[in-house]
Amino acid sequence: MKFSDLPREEKELHINNYFNSVSKDEFSFISSNVREIRSIAVSVLKILYKYRDKNLTFYDYYNCPRMDYYSKVKLVNDFYKSIGIRIDIDELVNNGDIHLCNNDDTISDEDTSILLVNHVRGENSSTNAFLSNSGKSVEAIIYAHEIAHYIDEHYPKEDFGRRLLSETVAISSEMLFLDFVKDNSLFDCEVHAKLRAKDFTVSTFEAIEWCNYIESFALHGSYNIDSFNEVHKGDYESSLNFFNTLYNSNYSVVDCINHCFAMFFAPYIVYQYHINKEFSKSYKEIFKTSNIDDFMKAMGINLSIVDSDSFCIFLDNYLYRNINSNRLKRHI
Ligand SMILES: [Zn+2]
Repeated sequence: MKFSDLPREEKELHINNYFNSVSKDEFSFISSNVREIRSIAVSVLKILYKYRDKNLTFYDYYNCPRMDYYSKVKLVNDFYKSIGIRIDIDELVNNGDIHLCNNDDTISDEDTSILLVNHVRGENSSTNAFLSNSGKSVEAIIYAHEIAHYIDEHYPKEDFGRRLLSETVAISSEMLFLDFVKDNSLFDCEVHAKLRAKDFTVSTFEAIEWCNYIESFALHGSYNIDSFNEVHKGDYESSLNFFNTLYNSNYSVVDCINHCFAMFFAPYIVYQYHINKEFSKSYKEIFKTSNIDDFMKAMGINLSIVDSDSFCIFLDNYLYRNINSNRLKRHI
């Protein structure tokens, strides 16, 4: 039977069972910060919509020049050295800490996410990372991103909020890597920025929806018509049905919040890195922070006074710089 054909009570049960099964750590962080998270997601989404290119596909991303594994590794090692972090990817691969997946570079329709699948981290392991190697230059960007997760996970994270910022660290490192390779014709920074804007539009939209469901559930300890009416606007039955869409999405609630945090904070970190010598010297310190307060302190942000719309100027400028300014250059 289709979810939408189920009786209302069963749909509610499905939603409430889900929230009762979510880890306490996760749920309490999100529910106690739900307004701030939603405000961040709404502001981020407005900017992402401006730059979203609906026609862009994964093939645009994958359609890039070839680059051999050792050149990619050298470039990423050199980048990390330039930001004060010594890492030897090949050594980590040889040690077995990082798994290298050699792919055929022909991608079938069902397999459009082959690169994405391979750059997803191992579920149960805190130190393993997966890197794909199909001979394409774009994989160097993925290496830069995954190595940031790898380094970040080496430091214990006390709270769930800080763990939620792992993507921020990975995305800021990825953005700095793109600045590092900007003049290298093997990388199309515009396509990359557009792809991030497109992908994260979906997860940021879903983050807002998750916040609405979580806020309703937290109000009465269950999702029902009364808790719905206090938070949502619109039709209760549609909200029950939409929950199922959200539940079956490619992104989990944690992914969605992780992504919108990353789009919110990472461009600011990159900006600070470029203009503030002291900050750039201590960039690696953000990897070591174990709770959200220390992370904010290391970034120089006071979250309680941040206005999310104004703060999104960093994201707006970052995307403008990578998307519009490149187009401008090409037309000259
Ligand atoms: Zn990531």
